[in-house]
Amino acid sequence: MNIILLGPPGAGKGTQARHLVETRGMVQLSTGDMLREAKDSGTEMGKIVAEVMAKGELVTDEIVIGLIREKIETGGGSGFIFDGFPRTLAQADALGELLEATGQTLDAVIEMEVDDEALVARITARSTCAGCGEVYNDLTKPIPDDGKCTNCGHTEFKRRADDNEDSLRTRLMEYYKKTSPLIGYYYAKDHLTRIDGLAEIATVQQSIAGVLGAATPA
Ligand code: AMP
Repeated sequence: MNIILLGPPGAGKGTQARHLVETRGMVQLSTGDMLREAKDSGTEMGKIVAEVMAKGELVTDEIVIGLIREKIETGGGSGFIFDGFPRTLAQADALGELLEATGQTLDAVIEMEVDDEALVARITARSTCAGCGEVYNDLTKPIPDDGKCTNCGHTEFKRRADDNEDSLRTRLMEYYKKTSPLIGYYYAKDHLTRIDGLAEIATVQQSIAGVLGAATPA
């Protein structure tokens, strides 16, 4: 089963994707993570994307589709969770074509609804474990008092360079201009389910499980 988690930055897509990886053995395809890896590797492509990402703008469709193509062609076990991809209509079309060409289907698109004020508060409070990438949030899921990651015990945590208010405003604008049209696109394709992304993490997990259960072929 292949699904898309759709929603603005800070909606909780990464947190939910990690849960699906742990509980269902699905494969998370986060273009944000792939681009951060490229950036850290210091390659030519990494240098190009670093500046764009720091500003909060979108990297070109060509680069992002290229990254996803490689992954889709190598196959995805229990299915892919597309996290942060597609972000434009061109990417959505490309994804449809890639899945079709490799004999795969898109089974659900889950829109995680959140309001903008909550996003700004969430994002400026977020950090991740430097060891395993577990996501923490000063407001909703603080780093434990003993300073150790609950998942791997690591004691270092980092904040994303683009998780600041300036960059976030641009990321939100990019979302509304270029990504939010995908809601209508997938609605028209009869793939879309909306869930409340502001609920407790466990409640959101249950909502997603409900959608996946309904989408499982009989
Ligand atoms: P994310 O981790 O999903 O919030 O992505 C971080 C940044 O990576 C975004 O602000 C964009 O600059 C870039 N990015 C990630 N995914 C995409 C995509 N599908 N298309 C274009 N740019 C992307």
